[in-house]
Amino acid sequence: MANEKTLAIIKPDALEKGIIGEICKRIEEGGMKIVGMKMLQMTPKKAEGFYAVHQSKPFFAGLVKFMSSGPTVVMCLEGENAIKRWRDMMGATDPEKAAEGTIRKDFGSSIERNVTHGSDASDTAKLEIVYFFESGELVNYEWI
Ligand code: GDP
Repeated sequence: MANEKTLAIIKPDALEKGIIGEICKRIEEGGMKIVGMKMLQMTPKKAEGFYAVHQSKPFFAGLVKFMSSGPTVVMCLEGENAIKRWRDMMGATDPEKAAEGTIRKDFGSSIERNVTHGSDASDTAKLEIVYFFESGELVNYEWI
């Protein structure tokens, strides 16, 4: 297994629900390290850039509106197999389809308001981490 970094976002719906601590607890108890962390509210432009891959989807405008509607917590996580482990911990995109005990199952309200984001592969993880973090803002940044 490779030591990996991944980008995690605690989305605005989770901040409204007051579950930052619960999510961070699951990450740390799951054996991953938080090596970068900040709270920010994305501008619509920043959210559009982040989700550019979904530009042609019917849900794009709503997604950008939601993601820029309030503060988020963006984190860089590190650990063995961190990309898959964080996605497994989050569960399926649609909370109704997510497995029992996953974050999205436990706290998600809809396919859009699904509490967290996680990178899906190592190339996208690198791009997403540098989209939010400068090298000096990460504890361990050898490849940034
Ligand atoms: P993820 O990697 O599991 O976050 O899923 P995707 O990359 O496919 O989608 C990005 C985000 O867009 C999701 O986390 C949802 O917030 C939102 N999204 C995805 N599919 C849909 C959809 O069919 N309808 C709506 N309203 N939002 C969606």
